[in-house]
Amino acid sequence: MIIGVFKEQENENRVALLPDHVTQLKKWGVEVCIEKGAGISSFADDDQYQTAGAELTDASSILSKANLLLSVSIPRQDILQGIRGTHYLIGTFNPVFNREAIEIMQKSGATAFSLDFVPRTTRAQAMDVLSSMATIAGYKAVLEAASRLPRFFPMFMSAAGTIKPAKVLILGAGVAGLQAIAIARKLGAVVEVFDVRSAVKEEVKSLGGKFIEVEGAREDAAAGGYAVEQSEEFIRKQRQLIHDHASNADVVICTAQVFGKKAPLLLTKATVEAMRPGSVVIDLAASTGGNCELTQNGQSIWHKQVLIIGKSNYPSEMPFDASKMYGNNLLNFLKLIVNKDGQLQIPFDDDIIQATCMVKENKIVNERYLQLIK
Ligand code: NAD
Repeated sequence: MIIGVFKEQENENRVALLPDHVTQLKKWGVEVCIEKGAGISSFADDDQYQTAGAELTDASSILSKANLLLSVSIPRQDILQGIRGTHYLIGTFNPVFNREAIEIMQKSGATAFSLDFVPRTTRAQAMDVLSSMATIAGYKAVLEAASRLPRFFPMFMSAAGTIKPAKVLILGAGVAGLQAIAIARKLGAVVEVFDVRSAVKEEVKSLGGKFIEVEGAREDAAAGGYAVEQSEEFIRKQRQLIHDHASNADVVICTAQVFGKKAPLLLTKATVEAMRPGSVVIDLAASTGGNCELTQNGQSIWHKQVLIIGKSNYPSEMPFDASKMYGNNLLNFLKLIVNKDGQLQIPFDDDIIQATCMVKENKIVNERYLQLIK
């Protein structure tokens, strides 16, 4: 089997495999072709890949010889147009928000697996790319907020007077939110947290955050650890309470998401206008609509005197460790589908394979995806 890795889309610094991953794959008896320059933005150069045993070549040659194509997100248009029925693709395709690309994969006859659909089971934990990337996002979001805030995060008592600690409000206590709580607390901020899943209350407390409860949240054990959409009435009540807390906060980190849906709108324009001058909002849900009404995806804007940063791709700003974690998750997934002779052998009846397989034999085969786009 030959694995192919391309350079990602223009704004993406990560790469699907680093040289160390290539070394491991070679031990399995798998050949690896890397597009020249694919790892440069992740600080992995062509020589390192070559030393690890990869062939460095161009995109068209990879398309013609590799059968398994690995990517971080949706492959570039020129790659998508070149895929054929003999190809297997694995990446994080965010299918609900990239339906056209999924359609191209379907029409090509290729078989595609999207790792953002990995189930949240103990067995699949080592392949959970969303958790890996959310860890990075939560960490970087707090660091960026701290560096852009015109105040200290920790309390200071000095001869020049006492500085109160910053107040950080975190919306959503999933993987990114919990990481954000931990980092903000380490930097000395006072942290308040909203979530709709009561299960996270204890985790928030144990990290030193204050959990603000809004009664009447809808929860569903069948959602596989994810939140479900809330009623309009609940969201209205929640927005009011968020308004009260945000107007006293210096930083709001927005991480609230509902899998496969538009992100809930929690921070209104009126709330932003009630915030203190110099405050910072970081919206990690920007690519799915944002938790803040004023968020513009991929942009930093000032509204009155509040800075709103709409950024869902922090992992791309920490490309080395992000690629390392991503590649490790990928290798764990590959263990399921590569046999001891280094050949593809896909157990299509396996629950992780079933949950992640999007298209196969010109058909969309993923029930969960079909439900989400209904
Ligand atoms: P996510 O990115 O889908 O959502 C982020 C957070 O936003 C979630 O905590 C969610 O409850 C919250 N949210 C949604 N709507 C909200 C609203 N209206 N107001 C406030 N908060 C709202 O979630 P995630 O980070 O991917 O993970 C969700 C959970 O799954 C976490 O508790 C995580 O520990 C768990 N998980 C389990 C496994 C596993 O068992 N293998 C793996 C990964 C994650």
